[in-house]
This record gives sequence, C-alpha cells and structure tokens, in this order.
Amino acid sequence: MTIRPLPDTLINQIAAGEVVERPASVVKELVENALDAGASRVDIDLEEGGVRLIRIRDNGSGIPADELPLAVSRHATSKIASLDDLEGVATLGFRGEALPSIASVSRFSMSTRREDAEHGSVLEIDGGRVGEVMPRPHPQGTTVEVRDLFFNVPARRKFLRAERTELGHIEEWLRQLALARPDVELRVSHNGKPSRRWKGEGGGAGAPSLLSDTRLHETLGQEFTRNVLRVDHAAAGLRLHGWIAQPAYNRASTDQQYLFVNGRSVRDRSIAHAVKQAYSDVLCHGRHPAYVLFLELDPRRVDVNVHPAKHEVRFRDSRLIHDFVYRTLHEALAGTRAGVEAGAGA
Ligand code: ADP
Ligand code: MG
Repeated sequence: MTIRPLPDTLINQIAAGEVVERPASVVKELVENALDAGASRVDIDLEEGGVRLIRIRDNGSGIPADELPLAVSRHATSKIASLDDLEGVATLGFRGEALPSIASVSRFSMSTRREDAEHGSVLEIDGGRVGEVMPRPHPQGTTVEVRDLFFNVPARRKFLRAERTELGHIEEWLRQLALARPDVELRVSHNGKPSRRWKGEGGGAGAPSLLSDTRLHETLGQEFTRNVLRVDHAAAGLRLHGWIAQPAYNRASTDQQYLFVNGRSVRDRSIAHAVKQAYSDVLCHGRHPAYVLFLELDPRRVDVNVHPAKHEVRFRDSRLIHDFVYRTLHEALAGTRAGVEAGAGA
C-alpha cells in the first residue's frame, strides 16, 4: 500500500478512541471546558444515559464567532501557547483535542455568545462534517449538544452499556465534580426530569471555595459525613486538606476514594499507597478507607500531560509527596489509634 496522510475526520476519530470512551467522558470534557471558561453555573441535560443526548450549557466567557471553527479544530486551544505554559498549566484542558474528537463521532453543535457580542452564533458538525458558523440567539456563555454518540462508529457503539450503566458512570463523574468545585451550581436532568441539583456555594465568581459539610453530605451521604476526620496540613510547599473516614467506617471496595490534585480528579498509585499505609494498623485486611483529599502544590511540580484523558499525573518528587501524605494521615489517625490500643488493652 502507498503511504498517504490520513483525512482530518479519521485523525479525529482515532483521537476520539483515546479521549471519548463513553458518554461520561463527553460530559467530563465538556464540563471541564465550561469550568475553564469561568462558569459559575452548568446545566447538564441527558437522554438515554447520554447516548441519545448530552447538552451542557454554561454561563462562562463564551467564544467569539470567528473563533468557533478554531475551537473545533484539532490542536487549537486558548489555554497554552508554549512549552513553558504547558509546564505550569492550571486549566483542566490544554490539548485542544476534545471538541474535534467528540464532533467526529456524534451529531454536534456548539452555540455561544461573548458578553460583548451583538448576537450569538452556532456551529454544527455532523459526524466530523463541519458546517458554517450561523447566527443564533444565545445568552452569554456556551451550549454544546452531542447527539447520537458513536452513530458513525458501530464498533464503539457496540461497547456502550445499558442506559442505567452509562448514567451511573456520568453520576460518578458528577460526584467528583461536585466535590472539586463547590463554588459552581450544577443542575442535572435525565430524560426530561430534573435528577440532581447542587447549589453554588460562596467563593464568588470563579474562586474555588473550600468544600463545605453541606456539599460533602449532599454528595457522599450522611454515613460518610458523620464518620469523618478533617485534615489540613501544609509543609514543603505542599498542602493536603479534606476529609478521611474514621477506621470504623470502612468499605469493601475503593468506591469512596476521591483524590484531587490542584482541583483535578486523578488516580495515583503512590498516593493511594500512602493512604493505605497510614491506615494499615487501624483497618482490617481487605477493607478500604474512604476519603476526599485535595493535594495542592505548584503546578510546575506536577506533570498533567501523561494521559490523553488526564486521569493520571506524574509528580516531580513523588517520594516526598508519598511521605507527606503518609505522615499527615498517620498523624490525623493518631486519636483513633489510641482508641484502638486502649480498647485492646481493656
Ligand atoms: P482544550 O480544552 O484542551 O483547550 P477543547 O477541544 O476542549 O480543547 O476546546 C478548544 C477550545 O475551545 C478551548 O481552548 C476554548 O478556547 C474553547 N472552548 C471550548 N469549550 C468552551 C466553553 N464552554 N466556553 C468557552 N470556550 C470554550
Ligand atoms: Mg477541553
């Protein structure tokens, strides 16, 4: 076969293979864009577990009409312009890949208006075929609609699960979001019925406030909230804060382990290990702790460009962070450990 460059749509569909696994990944990418645009309220409307429709509306900055075609082009982003920017990136997005990928495997439309624009605009893309920018009334902010996900990629469509399963994945991601950004109001509807609502808390526009007990309770339930210890410790330019469950409240799985690094929900083996170690003498074998932890550090000490879907990060000084997390939690659990020993001795 002769060597030929791939057509753009196919390039985007290949990228979509990495970024867009299921409806929940679309919700994640679109809501992250809304947050990066400074939204204080995000409305999420879903149909059939997001497979038929995902509509995300935000009250963020909006996009200038003449930049709409760029927003949906591959490797076009307003968030970084140089390697130096990448190394200190503080936004959730930076790859300029999500919109073109999503638009190549769905019926996609993006409507938007900047505060200073006379009227709104819309751009529609059908399975990667890009239309013209047209005028369309829209309040300040952006609405993205994604219909019939994977309609043109039968191999992917086949892997979609039942409506309830896909909805479950979306809800899990929304819980992470609700924990990470208590300052943002979230409204969710499914098949035309309002299903969840989180009120925005304090902070003021765009300023992430600390997670309140109310939102913790609304998100993870009363059992969790009743059995937690507060943690807040800073040293060596690192800060770890949040809640960890008392050892008596433990889980059969790792389902209530939430870790955010600079506001981004991530999985990290080293930190998970540090937490496990801290609990090792107060938890039975095979049981797992529950926690909501926020680690904050200079963005230059963490590489977020590791994974296309950004589920993982790489720390420049991983060992130091491991030990910091271990020591902070070991200390926080000291009271419960005394309890265990006293109990055992009695
Ligand atoms: P990235 O988020 O990595 O920059 P995306 O493909 O997700 O890449 O988005 C491309 C660009 O489109 C963003 O850099 C941003 O400028 C613009 N954009 C996307 N969604 C929104 C939104 N909801 N509000 C304002 N601008 C947006
Ligand atoms: Mg993005």
